[in-house]
Amino acid sequence: MKRLSIVVPCYNEEEAIPLFYDACLDALAKLPVDPEWWFVDDGSTDGTLIQLKTLRQKDPRVHFISFSRNFGKESAMFAGLEAACGDCVAVMDADLQDPPSLFAPMLDGLEEGYDCVATRRVTRKGEPKIRSFFARAFYRLINRISKTEVVDGARDFRLMSRRMVDAVLSVKEVSRFSKGIFSWVGFNTKWLEYENLQRVAGETKWSFWKLLVYSLDGIIGFSTAPLALASLLGLVCCLLAFVLILYFLIKTLIWGDPVAGFPAMICIILLLGGIQLFCIGILGQYLSKTYLETKRRPIYIAREKE
Ligand code: UDP
Ligand code: MG
Repeated sequence: MKRLSIVVPCYNEEEAIPLFYDACLDALAKLPVDPEWWFVDDGSTDGTLIQLKTLRQKDPRVHFISFSRNFGKESAMFAGLEAACGDCVAVMDADLQDPPSLFAPMLDGLEEGYDCVATRRVTRKGEPKIRSFFARAFYRLINRISKTEVVDGARDFRLMSRRMVDAVLSVKEVSRFSKGIFSWVGFNTKWLEYENLQRVAGETKWSFWKLLVYSLDGIIGFSTAPLALASLLGLVCCLLAFVLILYFLIKTLIWGDPVAGFPAMICIILLLGGIQLFCIGILGQYLSKTYLETKRRPIYIAREKE
């Protein structure tokens, strides 16, 4: 029988965890797998850890890692993948937005020879319109400027073979953008589609701001196109300046028409200053990522592991 590890990042999910566990048991009852759970308590401030300890007492197949503080979902997923020892490993959210009923088709996918069966939601029902708009714009942008494909609507919910998990773990970068990493490591992936579901309990941990920062992490982590933007803008400015010089020179020489210096100067200084600061800002973003990576700080720190 295949050993299946289920990795679940949890941040303040005390209400959702028991429901999640029961739903998993239901879905797995008829499947020919031997499951284990790796819940990762990402520095929760509610009763999440207590819930996990209760579950562990009830069922020794349940394991948990508890972080010393909130390190973010990406770190939690990494910790879970590292701890999981199954032949195949599933990553899923604790809030039942990732339906355990998909385990069966996912396992079928692995049987068919795929190394990964991933899910994407085809609708964004129940999500604020503005959030959907920015999400779509983000996917369009990153797929245009990055060689790594990031599928629109792809969830982190997926089942991976042991060799794919090992490949994901070999990517050691600290600012992790899993949607990119899963795609970057390659392997043939089967996509399952489903309708967006509402979370069973608690509320989303992703504010608009957090999502924005996350998407910038994705762009910086998987594309260097913004760096080339500086050169492009520089080139455009030089061309523009050249044309303007010619224009003013001819105007003054032929018509003897003096240029109103002050307004023109202010505009030029502002424009160039703005472009230069913008480009330095982009450089700064890449530099800060490089700085954080070179420190080689651990991706997470565990306080307890059982
Ligand atoms: N999560 C986490 N650490 C965080 C934020 C979220 O481990 O800092 C977990 C959370 O408990 C949940 C999953 O990541 O299991 C997805 O979070 P959420 O449901 O809030 O995101 P959404 O589904 O709204 O995108
Ligand atoms: Mg959710």
